[in-house]
Amino acid sequence: MSGFYRFSGGRILDPGSGRDEVGDLFVAGGRIVDPASLPAETNWEWIDAGGRIVAPGLIDIHVHLREPGEPQKETIASGTRAAAAGGFTAVVAMPNTRPPADQPNTIGWIRERAREQGVVRVYPTGCLSEGRRGEKLAPLGSLRAAGVVALTDDGSCIQDAALMRRAMEYAAMLGLPILEHCEESSVSGGGVIHEGYWSAVLGLRGWPSVAEELIVSRDILLAELSGARLHCQHLSSAGSVRLVREAKRRGISVTAEVTPHHLGLTDEALAEYDASFKMNPPLGSEADREALREGVVDGTIDLIASDHAPHCSFEKEVEFDRAPFGVVGLETMLAVAAETLVRTKLLDWSGLITRLSTNPARLLGVPGGTLRTGAPADLVVIDPNLRWTVNPQAFLSRGRNTPFAGWEVQGKVMLTMVEGKIVWRL
Ligand SMILES: [Zn+2]
Repeated sequence: MSGFYRFSGGRILDPGSGRDEVGDLFVAGGRIVDPASLPAETNWEWIDAGGRIVAPGLIDIHVHLREPGEPQKETIASGTRAAAAGGFTAVVAMPNTRPPADQPNTIGWIRERAREQGVVRVYPTGCLSEGRRGEKLAPLGSLRAAGVVALTDDGSCIQDAALMRRAMEYAAMLGLPILEHCEESSVSGGGVIHEGYWSAVLGLRGWPSVAEELIVSRDILLAELSGARLHCQHLSSAGSVRLVREAKRRGISVTAEVTPHHLGLTDEALAEYDASFKMNPPLGSEADREALREGVVDGTIDLIASDHAPHCSFEKEVEFDRAPFGVVGLETMLAVAAETLVRTKLLDWSGLITRLSTNPARLLGVPGGTLRTGAPADLVVIDPNLRWTVNPQAFLSRGRNTPFAGWEVQGKVMLTMVEGKIVWRL
């Protein structure tokens, strides 16, 4: 490999810089370059991108890599390979590992492991509270010094409002965003699916939308008070979208994400008691799904994130009530997002790439998310027309727990490059 690449004849799509044209893109020394700055005799390796989209690499800010502690579910090696196959050049790792990432040495271990075995960039997050128990703050300053990009207790949520206020004050001081799993657990406690028509019909304990909305409202108020940057994870309800929209209008520093499964599915999918559709927060009603799509389109919801949560098959193949929450998403996110937003004409490809790359890079302040000259060569080549069928057996992830098995989707990742290195090629 020469390390000199010429992506030729592709649709170069970089929403961050407004570039959208058919042309060539050059990579040398791990960066995007202007070929005029290199000798005329440079020996480029040509990569035919005709009919394809060349875009900045996707960034998933919500991924469970399961290491340390649960390598039977996923490892940094398998998870980052799955990410590369899904078009991601960077992922943000959630801290609900074993042990939880609430100490600087655990963050150090994850970064070291990612350097050795990861094929895409891995950005660790640190816990807000010790052990994610919501009782006492984790050493937030030391976690920042160890290299976390954000703070979160994802999987749970600090219930004590006074402790959350303090967490926000520290996060604001440290300049780190808080990624919040919005769930008031005295209200959601024991719920396994969205509380509504289907929970009643199926006789399953409901998880009401208001459990999410209570924390979204509380945290918006606390963010306003503290000046912290609040990011609401995996929004699932129409009411939450409305709350975030109002807060943004009032100038509060709040952003939000939604998952492809909340955009693509509703709680009607639970009719067969299949635990492949069991996740937290649960799938909502049709009205929720409509509101979430609308929120993505009008910018209330800034970005799409997978909440990739691999589990072993035997764990999911039990009684619905006992199965763990969570679905995998790295290898289906782009196509499912394209299916639900682009094929429905709610967004064009530029709008989709904005929400999968440009916006997450901006939110975290990390490299990538752009094809500007001089930027790291983190990019993805997408065939927007290729139709394929989701087959969990073909996943590189160790998790097979997808709600999209058998879905016919459009849009395939053909090549993923991280810092000038090809990490995936179909
Ligand atoms: Zn969560």
